[in-house]
Amino acid sequence: MRCDFCGHDNPPPVWSFAQKKGFTVVTELDTHRFEAPWACCEICKPLVVKRQLHLILARAQRGMLDGEMLNRQERRFQRWFHKKVFQSLFNAGLKDPVPLEPGTD
Ligand SMILES: [Zn+2]
Repeated sequence: MRCDFCGHDNPPPVWSFAQKKGFTVVTELDTHRFEAPWACCEICKPLVVKRQLHLILARAQRGMLDGEMLNRQERRFQRWFHKKVFQSLFNAGLKDPVPLEPGTD
């Protein structure tokens, strides 16, 4: 299981942030609906609580590079997409983090 913010599985996510309301992000290719709680690792948690968007984006970008070979255009799109999603998420509002139930996905 990976952190929904940075995309890393090490450290594993141990926190869960529920959204106050659902939101939709539209791109040229797709419409993404976000309603489920976000799994979050120990490192991202304080960044999420303090809404430190740029630090989260930097971590997310590194997580992506570890996992996939993306060309420059794809990386740019990923960064743009992450930024849009996290900004929308912060606008929608997050509840206080609760410990993630083991065994849920
Ligand atoms: Zn994380």
